[in-house]
Amino acid sequence: MVRVRFAPSPTGHLHIGGARTALFNWLFARHHNGIFILRIEDTDRSRSTEEYIESIIEALKWLGLNWDEGPFRQTDRIEIYKAYAHKLLEEGKAYRCYCTPEELEDRRQKAMKEGKPPRYDRRCREIKEYLNKPFAIRFKMPLEGETVVNDLVKGPVTFKNSEIEDLVILRSDGTPTYNFCVVVDDYEMRITHVIRGEDHLNNTPKQIHIYHALGINPPEFAHIPMILGKDRTRLSKRHGATSVLAYRDEGYLADAVVNFLARLGWSHGDQEIFTREELIKYFNLDQVGKANAVFDSEKLLWLNSEYMKLTSEEKLFELVKPFLIKEGYIKKDETVDLKWICKAIRSLKERCRTLLELAHAMRYYFLEYVEIDPKAKEKYINSETMPILKEVTEKLSQLQDFTQDKIEKIFMDIVNERGLKLGQIAQPVRVAITGNTVSPGIYEVLEIVGKEKTLKRLRRLLD
Ligand code: GLU
Repeated sequence: MVRVRFAPSPTGHLHIGGARTALFNWLFARHHNGIFILRIEDTDRSRSTEEYIESIIEALKWLGLNWDEGPFRQTDRIEIYKAYAHKLLEEGKAYRCYCTPEELEDRRQKAMKEGKPPRYDRRCREIKEYLNKPFAIRFKMPLEGETVVNDLVKGPVTFKNSEIEDLVILRSDGTPTYNFCVVVDDYEMRITHVIRGEDHLNNTPKQIHIYHALGINPPEFAHIPMILGKDRTRLSKRHGATSVLAYRDEGYLADAVVNFLARLGWSHGDQEIFTREELIKYFNLDQVGKANAVFDSEKLLWLNSEYMKLTSEEKLFELVKPFLIKEGYIKKDETVDLKWICKAIRSLKERCRTLLELAHAMRYYFLEYVEIDPKAKEKYINSETMPILKEVTEKLSQLQDFTQDKIEKIFMDIVNERGLKLGQIAQPVRVAITGNTVSPGIYEVLEIVGKEKTLKRLRRLLD
């Protein structure tokens, strides 16, 4: 049975890279009918916060990456790590290190000045007797030989053991360190595949030695390539929003973000758009590339607009609702005519790339009056168009069924009688009703805005 985990450190919000790691683990679990575990690696108490834990969980939920076990928190498991660390100490696979942080720092500085690697010099490894002083527990790394990580993505990667530091597994204050907790947890949680970012590859040989010392077989490892910005530097805030929830707040659809994340380092032929079911069906580690992935925000926007088109109006209403509430177009508990709102959404969804754009565009369907762009007003609402607007207003006011085809007939009659081009009447009306020169078809817009508001807006300009 496949068992994988996503193990974020709650030292920040869930960002694009972390979300991609979570997604690859989730897809791998779902593809193999396995188990996906959420583990919060919060042993770095000075940098971890409750707020980040909540925000990471919220982001995972928003993306729809549900977990089967957890969330586990490493701070709840400290005694377990301690027990394993002391076991290694008793078995002679680890040793007490009495060096103080200041001593270590001095030596590190000195080594660097001399151009030597700033690794711990293993001096306490030689101390055989017990000194009655505070101590950390350090792991005895092998002094020679090589360690090969047979990575499922990168292939075999070889590390020289002599270059691996005798790392601290339990600090003198009794807190365990990252590399140690990961091994203990991955073992205790019976993890079969560790899928994580390539930035952890250097940790893997250290972890492999800890597994061996504990007498257990390491899981399989798959290190997924880094995500770079378009300028080929590591993705960071400079490249735009990288926090997942920021994309939610900007009106991206979770499905579009998931689709986008899946393609950051993984491919399936040249297919770009996948349903979740397809992602689960096709996902495998063989098709994770070795090359770094490039984050392209324009592609995300394109994908999102494709998802806007593919999503039903009912669903889009559900999704755009919080934005409409925020803009003040509807109230929280207001009942909205579903048929009407779906018509409104249908008229705009092909033109809007995000939910936020959709909410903004819907403004003229909700408001009583709209603000008119001054340039558009000058060009289209003037002495020349006034008589036309007057006639349209007059004729529309007599209309019983305020429907597209009836409205169209009125427009066409005026066009024919006055010998105008359609634009000479449609544009002034469009500006009067939407405040702008671009909108969906004018008859459709008028029908959705409705007779009352249409006449109100026109009459106000005629006064
Ligand atoms: N907690 C680590 C991180 O957030 C992940 C560790 C792992 O996946 O092994 O980078």
